[in-house]
Amino acid sequence: MIKRLTFAFVFILLPSIIFTGCDQLGHNNSPGKPKLVIGIVVDQMRYDYLTRYINKYGKGGFKRLLKEGFSCRDAEYNYVPTYTAPGHTSIYTGTTPSVHGMIANEWFDRKLNRMSYCVEDTATKTVGSTSNEGAMSPRKELTSTIGDQLKLSDNGMSKVIGISQKDRASILPAGHSANAAYWLDGLSGNWITSTYYMKELPAWVKSFNAEGRAQKYLSQPWTTLLPIEEYTESMKDDNPYEGLYKGEKSPVFPHDLPALMGQNGGCELIKTTPFGDDITTDFAIETIKNEKMGKGSVTDMLTISYSSTDYIGHMYGTLAIETEDTYLRLDRDLSRLLLFLDDYLGKDNVLIFLTADHGAALNPQYLEDQNIPAGYADNWQIVSRIKQYLIQKYGSELLLEFTNQQCYFDRKKIAEKGINMDTLEKEVALVAAKCDGVERAIPAYLIDDCGNDFIAKKIRNGYYPGRSGDVIINLLPQYIIYGKTGTTHGAPYIYDAHVPMIFYGGMVKSGASDEEEPITNIAPTVADLMHVSYPDGCTGHPVKLIK
Ligand code: ZN
Ligand code: ZN
Repeated sequence: MIKRLTFAFVFILLPSIIFTGCDQLGHNNSPGKPKLVIGIVVDQMRYDYLTRYINKYGKGGFKRLLKEGFSCRDAEYNYVPTYTAPGHTSIYTGTTPSVHGMIANEWFDRKLNRMSYCVEDTATKTVGSTSNEGAMSPRKELTSTIGDQLKLSDNGMSKVIGISQKDRASILPAGHSANAAYWLDGLSGNWITSTYYMKELPAWVKSFNAEGRAQKYLSQPWTTLLPIEEYTESMKDDNPYEGLYKGEKSPVFPHDLPALMGQNGGCELIKTTPFGDDITTDFAIETIKNEKMGKGSVTDMLTISYSSTDYIGHMYGTLAIETEDTYLRLDRDLSRLLLFLDDYLGKDNVLIFLTADHGAALNPQYLEDQNIPAGYADNWQIVSRIKQYLIQKYGSELLLEFTNQQCYFDRKKIAEKGINMDTLEKEVALVAAKCDGVERAIPAYLIDDCGNDFIAKKIRNGYYPGRSGDVIINLLPQYIIYGKTGTTHGAPYIYDAHVPMIFYGGMVKSGASDEEEPITNIAPTVADLMHVSYPDGCTGHPVKLIK
């Protein structure tokens, strides 16, 4: 008997133990670890911006990442709504809002009885400006990020830092135990942070701010990088589908930034110009140098999110010369960053991934003018029809908030009146489903039982009990709740969900794959390459891409 057990241990159990041990190390484990990991998120970058402008890109930016790196050509968001906070969080936690809790940029907080911003934190204060733009933290992000896992792997020796013009796009990727997260204060044009991370800005950040670089970038007009007639991938410059800076009469080049600053929030204006991405690159390079990232004995991690692409996309739409010019300039920024890294660490010592937090719809009015199905849903129509119904049926509005296409009902009043909540949700969903542009409306009590098509699955993955609303509305393809110029995002459809996913660095083979990769696969892939555990809520799986 003992002999048999020994045999079983050696020949059956032992190999399985060894095998399991190897498997836990992950698919992408290679002997070395990167010295520096850089996550790059381009806010609102549709997948087709890679291909649409390819002939205009230089050799050193997007083209270099595609040529030398590994591109997942069918990477897609696997939940809805496709907004900035959930996007960045899902990339770095490897899971969906149903687990990490970031259901939107802001939502109705039932405890506070008001709208609440995803990174607001009244227990913190701004560091680096007199504004209150810095009273932020990642406390509402409910799981760990890959940066957190990196710090847990070596008793906090690794440096993890987040950078973006947007607070949420800096804070949420960097995670809970980050050394710092910096974002751009519109009032002063300074890079600021929160007392969550530190009491005072490092001396090098103070000197960077003292240079007044945002003001310098805004001291010249925005003209096109190439002769304007070469922007053949975009619509003509003057068209009715684009928004305007305050003080401009038509959406055409050159944009006189010095003259526009006064009416457009001072330094805040830089965010809606490509120079917001330039200053982000400047600051990222300074961060790496001054914090000596990648120069120690452990792996460091920098998260960069480029936001001007989103601000400009919202204002001008996806087919504007302004948008194309922004991507051509971002391409140069990427080239500059890669060249700096070649020199500073060498390609073999870095791991970079580039993706986006969501895409964007085309301007629906433009599509309608081309006879393509599209349109606008009317927030006011939806809310007023719901309220009208509730007053008629129950003698009271009972609707506390309608936001992110979700209804938040007054649960206290509903209980006091003895109304059955499920019945009310179902009735309101029927009313909402009849509104213009609405594809379906789902009562929250049916969330686990609302079908298995891709939209139902994405709605389920985006639903977090306690934060999400009581009725969830989905619009028809290319329908948005937005003004007639520019565009927005948030839908489950491919134009908002399909984004670039590129890995690059010494450990990554060059190539491409057409396998479907949900966005939640980035975090476990990067965790594998850093030899750290997957983030706590991770539901993704690693992409196979090592040499
Ligand atoms: Zn975004
Ligand atoms: Zn946006």
